[in-house]
Amino acid sequence: MSISENLNHIKASLPNHVTLVAVSKTKPVSDVMEAYQAGQRIFGENKIQEMVEKHEALPKDIEWHMIGHVQRNKVKYMASFVSLIHGVDNFKLLEEINKQAKKNNRVINCLLQIKIAAEDSKFGMSAIEAQKILSSEEFTRLTNIHVTGVMGMATFTNNNDQVKMEFQNLKNIFDSLKSYQTANFSPKIISMGMSGDYPLAISCGSTMVRVGSSIFGARHYYHN
Ligand SMILES: *Cc1c(COP(=O)(O)O)cnc(C)c1O
Repeated sequence: MSISENLNHIKASLPNHVTLVAVSKTKPVSDVMEAYQAGQRIFGENKIQEMVEKHEALPKDIEWHMIGHVQRNKVKYMASFVSLIHGVDNFKLLEEINKQAKKNNRVINCLLQIKIAAEDSKFGMSAIEAQKILSSEEFTRLTNIHVTGVMGMATFTNNNDQVKMEFQNLKNIFDSLKSYQTANFSPKIISMGMSGDYPLAISCGSTMVRVGSSIFGARHYYHN
């Protein structure tokens, strides 16, 4: 099936309250354009450099989401245009995003990435660390960021029960964070679910799914 057919098929299956992020990492601009022409406006990338290049080449009404691990020294390259940073896993990164957002006269939306997977390789903070950040005085001073929810990645496994438990865990953590009330925090988004597990994620409370290969086809990596 074509990109637009895949996209329409997935969109038709999503409940209204779930936002689709089309993950275009490693895919050429022409593929993004095909999805754009089919109506998609939200795209996710996991490398800042690649996102910057695509942002420059493509229509400016696209919302770019950074879904990968973010290095502090690279935040400045995307601060002028990024619309949501999913993978914020420490306070120093929030401070840097705040600083760069301020330079650009913007407020940048962020999600706190929570580690829900059993594997060591997945980034993220614990629920306790998230609570510490949201309740801290320092956090309330970051007026150029807005934390709008949480993001998580389940373990890469065929064991559906485990994946389901991890998704339910993220939903519970999200619910527990709702009690924190500061001007730069409004818990609305639970970003969880990818091509292989998004229907399960939605049944566990996801409000935003990040789908790549089911839209654009398998990725071919030549390095890393
Ligand atoms: C690549 C990626 C996705 C999309 O993965 P697919 O299995 O291709 O849908 C989602 N989230 C993150 C963080 C990713 O890096």
